[in-house]
Amino acid sequence: MNIILFGPPGAGKGTQAKNLEKKLNNFQISTGDMLRDEIKKESEIGKKIINYMNDGKFVDDEIVNKLMKNVIFDPKKKNKLIFDGYPRTLEQAKNLELLLKESDQKVDFIFFLNVDKDTIVQRIEKRKIIEKRSDDDLNTILKRYDTYMLTTKPVLEYFSTKPNFNEIDGGLKIAEITSKINNILGV
Ligand code: AMP
Repeated sequence: MNIILFGPPGAGKGTQAKNLEKKLNNFQISTGDMLRDEIKKESEIGKKIINYMNDGKFVDDEIVNKLMKNVIFDPKKKNKLIFDGYPRTLEQAKNLELLLKESDQKVDFIFFLNVDKDTIVQRIEKRKIIEKRSDDDLNTILKRYDTYMLTTKPVLEYFSTKPNFNEIDGGLKIAEITSKINNILGV
């Protein structure tokens, strides 16, 4: 089963992805983690993207799509994908559909975790202390939220017409969100 978790930064996508990973024996595909890894490794990609990431801006579709291709065509992960933070642009959403089709897969469920800006700011401030992420300062958070709203709106509109689209109140407690997702998945 392939699942997309969609929603603004701090909506709880990562937490829910980790729950699903355990429950379904699937793989969390976090583009944010993959990109942060490239920076840590000081790879060519890492050097290109560091300023974008620290500025709260999106990394180029081309770079992200390339990273995704390797994951989607990995036979170990076939039909076991939990997308966390991808796709974030319409171009990425179309690319994802294409890559899945080429690898004889599809998106089974889309979950949109909907959260307001105040809740997100509070949550990310907390996460900053726990995880010490360099892109988690308040200015970056606000920029990331605005970038998200601006760029992902067309993706949301595109997804919301799909029969497997589910909107969930991301302001609920973690366990409540998990239970709603599990109910819809029937697991
Ligand atoms: P996240 O961990 O998902 O909150 O992502 C952290 C940062 O990584 C974002 O603010 C972007 O700079 C970058 N990023 C993550 N996923 C994507 C994506 N699908 N497209 C472009 N940039 C991304």
